[in-house]
Amino acid sequence: MRTLLGASGLLLAVLVAPGGPAPGPAGASAVRHTLSIEVHRSAGPPVLLQFLVAAPTPEDALTVARRTAAELVPGGYIAEGGVTAQWAAWGWKWANDEIPVPVAYNPTGAPSSVGPQAVIAGLQAWSSVPDSRFAFRYGGITDNVASILDSGPDGENVVSWAPMECNPGCVLGVTSKEASHEVDMLLNNNPAAATQAGINGTLDWRTVILHELGHVAGLEHSCPVPFGPCTEPELAAVMHYQYRGIQRRLEPDDIAGIVALYPLAEPPAPPPGPSPAPPADVAVVLEPGWNFLVLPAAGLEAIASTLSCLSAAYAFEVGEWRSWIRGASPALQSLSAIQGGSAYWLFASATCAASFTSAP
Ligand SMILES: [Zn+2]
Repeated sequence: MRTLLGASGLLLAVLVAPGGPAPGPAGASAVRHTLSIEVHRSAGPPVLLQFLVAAPTPEDALTVARRTAAELVPGGYIAEGGVTAQWAAWGWKWANDEIPVPVAYNPTGAPSSVGPQAVIAGLQAWSSVPDSRFAFRYGGITDNVASILDSGPDGENVVSWAPMECNPGCVLGVTSKEASHEVDMLLNNNPAAATQAGINGTLDWRTVILHELGHVAGLEHSCPVPFGPCTEPELAAVMHYQYRGIQRRLEPDDIAGIVALYPLAEPPAPPPGPSPAPPADVAVVLEPGWNFLVLPAAGLEAIASTLSCLSAAYAFEVGEWRSWIRGASPALQSLSAIQGGSAYWLFASATCAASFTSAP
């Protein structure tokens, strides 16, 4: 995990498909990847756009990002030069009283293969890092669209869809960061984006959304090729700029990044006065196989009755492994309740999701 500040010109953030230019040392064939563009609106405050692009060459990626920025912000103009300083103006991270960060979803125009669960799963992954205080909260379905399409921020962090032309490459997703602490994500529902040349098979939108949500949380790319070189963990990260197929779980470098930005050392300030915080809705999604997640505090039987795919839960407590196994007799269950804030190993037989209301 690194923070990349370009010396001059635009910061590039290109998602490169397999078969495209390979990452490597700086040189003629190197991939410039951090595509961050500041756009001044004709009405409203400037906005920082971070693009994820699939394009045959870095030059094409820059071309398609700039053209898309012009399409998205009619009448806007792209700031030239001094991007390092401009980026610094947006170099904010979420304040303690903004966490958990609510993110709403507008499914209008989404490909049929993508539902709210794709967003919820990404929110959950970034919210389940045991050593980080960072968390998202699913804000439900909204009619608002990403503010990139509007004259300015609307006060809601939104994931929405819009067609963006694919020529000579495709913008897959663009995250916009407002100085007023609003971040929106726009995904490209042009069918060509999901089958872009160089991507073997069909694009996995869960992977794209998980990556973009890392930007929403405040992370840059793991590895600034061509300014690298990259370490093995940086190459393996979800926040690596290169799309390499399905990648639905955070890797150690991603976890190190979110922990560095939001360590546990600064817990949210307690609410003023004696009134307790309102209950929060916590969405939980289990994938087939092993999941390592923070769950809301509740009895395991209650959780298992809602999460139908949960087969077993394990935790290392008081010096020993304790387990709950579906169908086992009560005498054999050494784990009966989930402690809020602790992570558990959960084995699922299939995919299932549920929403819990838990008092923090
Ligand atoms: Zn990115």
